[in-house]
Amino acid sequence: MKISEILKNKRTLSFEVFPPKKDGSDELEKLYKTIDTLKTLGPDFISVTYGAGGANVRGASEIAGYIKSRGLEPLAHVTGGPSSHKDIDALVEKLKSLNVENVLALRGDKPVEYDAEYCKHFKHASDLLQYISKYGFCAGAACYPEGHTESETLYADLANLKTKGESGAEFFITQMFYDNSYYYRLVNEARKIGITAPIIPGIMPLTSVKNISRIKTMCGSTIPLELRNMIEVYSKDPEAMREVGINYAAYQICDLIAKGAPGIHIYTMNRPDTAEEICKRLKCVIDGYFTA
Ligand code: FAD
Repeated sequence: MKISEILKNKRTLSFEVFPPKKDGSDELEKLYKTIDTLKTLGPDFISVTYGAGGANVRGASEIAGYIKSRGLEPLAHVTGGPSSHKDIDALVEKLKSLNVENVLALRGDKPVEYDAEYCKHFKHASDLLQYISKYGFCAGAACYPEGHTESETLYADLANLKTKGESGAEFFITQMFYDNSYYYRLVNEARKIGITAPIIPGIMPLTSVKNISRIKTMCGSTIPLELRNMIEVYSKDPEAMREVGINYAAYQICDLIAKGAPGIHIYTMNRPDTAEEICKRLKCVIDGYFTA
């Protein structure tokens, strides 16, 4: 089913997984078990990341196919990056053959050192959205509550977000954030300039110190003082740090739902136990406020 259709009737609960970092059927089997566990939490869709230019994609399409075969909706990420039109055709045709109906169109992360030629064919996600429109997927795209790191201002980034909507994005999923006011500002400002598609907040539970350095290098999301203080105190105790991260994510979700978010997307980092714990703590919120 198309995610745009689901969003017309209910709030969505979704999870993100990534292909295994190492080769080997054991790794894939482990991920399939993760997906089976996530299924028990009743998600509306599960997204599968895809590295730009085909990096870190071990079995990404097959993983999307597996999700579909388990009776769930996959959201396959497709990155333009350095890919050619032929590469994209091959990837999306494969997704079509696996009955995948939803894609998240992205430019993809650029390598640290890149030249202007890197995104020769698909300079931006909007170019990819336009190109794949002929395939009839329900397409989504990414957005950034604190503005994308390459944009000078949030407003410059929002103008480009509008182009993504006009190029076919029917919903957006946000970059992770730890201060919900950035999300509310993004939604307010987007509506003011005529962006009407649902904007699904992306939540990444900060359960270990390792995640924190990842966030700093990956996307520079602001970590509010309150959370930073808790990290200072609890980071030496992994169990306590995990509890803090899960509670903080649960708090963010309660607040987002109370203020009208159209769904929640959890970056699971392939850790089903974290998603399970959040869903367990929020059972009444999920049962009562996500249903049709
Ligand atoms: P774009 O929309 O092209 O934006 C990149 C920059 O260019 C922004 O500053 C934007 O304002 C500007 N811009 C956009 N359109 C135009 C235009 N028409 N003219 C001028 N400027 C423009 N990366 C991966 O490699 N694989 C993944 O699977 C993946 N999944 C992600 C999922 C989510 C929900 C999010 C939020 C990010 C994901 N990323 C992934 C990271 C993403 O690829 C990077 O953030 C990347 O730097 C930007 O991708 P984009 O699709 O937003 O690019």
